[in-house]
Amino acid sequence: MLNNHDELAAKNKQFLWHPFTQMKDYLAEDPLIIARGEGVKLYDVNGRAYYDGFSSVWLNVHGHNVPQLNEAITRQLGQVAHSTLLGMANVPSILLAEQLVRIAPTGLTKVFYSDNGATAVEIALKMAFQYWQNRGIAGKHSFITMNNAYHGDTIGATSVGAIPLYHQVYKPLLFSPHIIPYPYPYRDGGEKAAVENTLERLEKLLDQHSHEIAAMIVEPVVQGAGGMIIMPDGCLKKIAEMLQAYDVLLIADEVATGFGRTGKMFACEHDEVVPDIMAVAKGITGGYLPVAATLVKEKIYDAFYADYEEQKTFFHGHSFTGNPLGCAVALANLRLMEERGLVADVAEKAEALEGLLAPLAEQPHVGEIRSKGLMAGIELVRDKQTKESYAWNDRIGVRVCQLAREKGLLTRPLGNVIVLIPPLASTIEELGEMVQILSESIWEVTTQKAVGRP
Ligand code: PMP
Repeated sequence: MLNNHDELAAKNKQFLWHPFTQMKDYLAEDPLIIARGEGVKLYDVNGRAYYDGFSSVWLNVHGHNVPQLNEAITRQLGQVAHSTLLGMANVPSILLAEQLVRIAPTGLTKVFYSDNGATAVEIALKMAFQYWQNRGIAGKHSFITMNNAYHGDTIGATSVGAIPLYHQVYKPLLFSPHIIPYPYPYRDGGEKAAVENTLERLEKLLDQHSHEIAAMIVEPVVQGAGGMIIMPDGCLKKIAEMLQAYDVLLIADEVATGFGRTGKMFACEHDEVVPDIMAVAKGITGGYLPVAATLVKEKIYDAFYADYEEQKTFFHGHSFTGNPLGCAVALANLRLMEERGLVADVAEKAEALEGLLAPLAEQPHVGEIRSKGLMAGIELVRDKQTKESYAWNDRIGVRVCQLAREKGLLTRPLGNVIVLIPPLASTIEELGEMVQILSESIWEVTTQKAVGRP
């Protein structure tokens, strides 16, 4: 295979359009071209190693090139690479559904597959919408989402997104949900005030509009793309209770938080919440192949279960729904997680990570350090006293991550928030090295005199 950096860089420039990327900026730089991975590191075509500090966009669980996961794919490849779930089944998709129901919060009993976080969310929204119609309850046509929510990039998922930079331009194309604040203690007067504000707004909204609301979608416990914002303990539980009281469904988007990322198998478990519908993706295959799933309570499934003539069928599906290769590697991933006691291990390593990150708080432009499990965000501010943010066009996060890359760590910022989401299998020593690189990069970029004022 072609492995020459310059030739590949030229073809990359000529043929590729990269996601979430201003190509004009990207093409001005020498591209990073990954050739292989091993453990928690990725290697470029020149053989240079980098820590995968964002788990290749929040996916990776056991590291790269894991023999047990590789073997699961090879074994399945010797049987069949793909066959559909439309009107038939295949072996790994059945066995994986059984395992997902076993590990999911009790009460989620049926699994509907798709292939990515956005599709799992899209399905959740359509199911919630049709659920009420199938039950003969008219008018429940709208949704509740939360400020700065991110649920993926298909049109439905974009509609319940609330990050202006990503979503504003599509507004005329989208349906409009109700939006309530996600509690953001750092900027909303502390935990108590932030939670009270969220709950008050929700109660008021439900009081006036619950008759026209099908469901609320929530990133449980950690709001990822919005800036790694952490919901205080007990808040999700209160939201769930309120929704239940007003007969509005709860959709938990566990795409980022699922499969051990926050120190529990699913983030909902922190508050002992069982959502009506739960979307999962990313870590499900250990970050190997695109498989996603939407899990539902029996009552949701039941509302679609009827004589064909009643027209209650869920007419939705994707070509690769229940892909056998993906399901086989997901099964191997879950087996390995269990063998290694990985979820308990993450809960322990989370404390170590907190300790490693704590000294960064001394830095003059570190406003807040937030983490839950192995999901961390460091919010940089221009002025620590007033919490004044850097302007978006300071590109402070981008510059820190560029420097970190030069120092051997890959991650992507969320605006002014520097993200550390390492593979769950990272050792404490590896976490220490990753944090060290981030710490130096933040220091060097933010203490340069020219920061933000070129
Ligand atoms: N929901 C959440 C909470 C996410 O963080 C993401 C992706 N970062 C998605 C949905 C979309 O997932 P995908 O990129 O696989 O479509």
